[in-house]
Amino acid sequence: MPLKLGIPRETAKGERRVAIDPFVISRLTKLGVEIYVEKGAGKSALISDSQFEGATLVKDIKELSEKVDIMWRVQAPTSDEIKLMRNGTVLIGTLMAHNNIAMLKTLQDKKITSFGMELIPRISRAQSMDVLSSQAAIAGYKAAIMGADIAPRFFPMLTTAAGTIRPSKVIVIGVGVAGLQAIATAKRLGAIVEAYDVRPETKEQIQSLGAKAIELSISAVGKGGYARELSAEEREQQQQELAGYISLADVLITTAAVPGKPAPKIIPDSTVDGMKEGAVIIDLAAEGGGNCTLTRPGKTITHGSVVIHGPLDVASQVPVHASEMYSKNLFNFMQLLIDEKGDYVPDFEDEIVIGALLTKDGEVMHEGTVALLNKTLGGK
Ligand code: NAD
Repeated sequence: MPLKLGIPRETAKGERRVAIDPFVISRLTKLGVEIYVEKGAGKSALISDSQFEGATLVKDIKELSEKVDIMWRVQAPTSDEIKLMRNGTVLIGTLMAHNNIAMLKTLQDKKITSFGMELIPRISRAQSMDVLSSQAAIAGYKAAIMGADIAPRFFPMLTTAAGTIRPSKVIVIGVGVAGLQAIATAKRLGAIVEAYDVRPETKEQIQSLGAKAIELSISAVGKGGYARELSAEEREQQQQELAGYISLADVLITTAAVPGKPAPKIIPDSTVDGMKEGAVIIDLAAEGGGNCTLTRPGKTITHGSVVIHGPLDVASQVPVHASEMYSKNLFNFMQLLIDEKGDYVPDFEDEIVIGALLTKDGEVMHEGTVALLNKTLGGK
């Protein structure tokens, strides 16, 4: 029996991506996988039903859920959507279970084998499956575009008959995947760019993009190439040292994050008070609460003349390429779950497969999520 893979229309509010792209359909059908797509699933990513060539269209999520062995999603399904799935279905998506204990319970009840794409270990071999990186790169690009759009000034230097316009200064804080893309995009738009991160190794990366690295007295390297959380004293020191640089910025893009923690507060109200008239903050860390104390996730507010924009689900605002990259990440991960005949034969000894495994046979399998559950439920 060929493996049946299903792709539903995403139902999360504002979500415009779809988990499969036509190129990936052709790759999977060559392996003998049968693909079922819910009608209209690609509409908001500008993929029409007729472009899903090689896949069978089904009318709704109920019909899809009854048919398939594996389901790919961008975002987590609702509990009602999980209840429609057959017991034992395999679910792969960016599930973010740490924010959604109710979903976990339903996955357990339905004995769904679920893989969280965001849980894939960030080792070299998994780079082609890394949705955090592919979607963060898109968000970083878009953040620079948003900054240029909202700012009351040009990014590039312009020499015109009406005089010479000085370029804008853009400061990027947090130089991971999103920050690097924001730097590159702001540079391409002609801004003068400075950037800062607590990890010292970012200095070279910043300079390689033609930007200036801001160096402070604090360094905070954590586990696995990530930053660690700063102590209260370090945080204050950082805020004070950064305020002087930020007071000269036209656009500030913040992307700082520490895995498993709320976004670090790096920009207090007082720093915003010291910013230039008409300066703009694009707080990409809004999803985790924001790097700026004034950020309101999902909103654009004005503090004095400073605009603070806290966008959510930014990758979804570039749905065509975000879907293409996401779908390729899923396809690459899927290679670890199926063999050359297209049969589902996951290797649970593989650190990538086991690292991404969230639930199986009614149990929560992911160690970090088990620890979180024990903490939340008081060890029950
Ligand atoms: P992230 O989204 O967790 O954090 C974004 C950035 O914020 C990081 O660079 C972090 O150092 C920085 N940050 C945290 N606290 C800060 C603070 N108080 N002040 C200033 N900056 C702060 O990170 P990410 O973009 O997902 O990835 C982080 C690193 O991991 C990157 O260097 C990336 O290249 C690396 N990475 C490696 C692989 C791989 O080898 N497969 C895959 C993905 C990412």
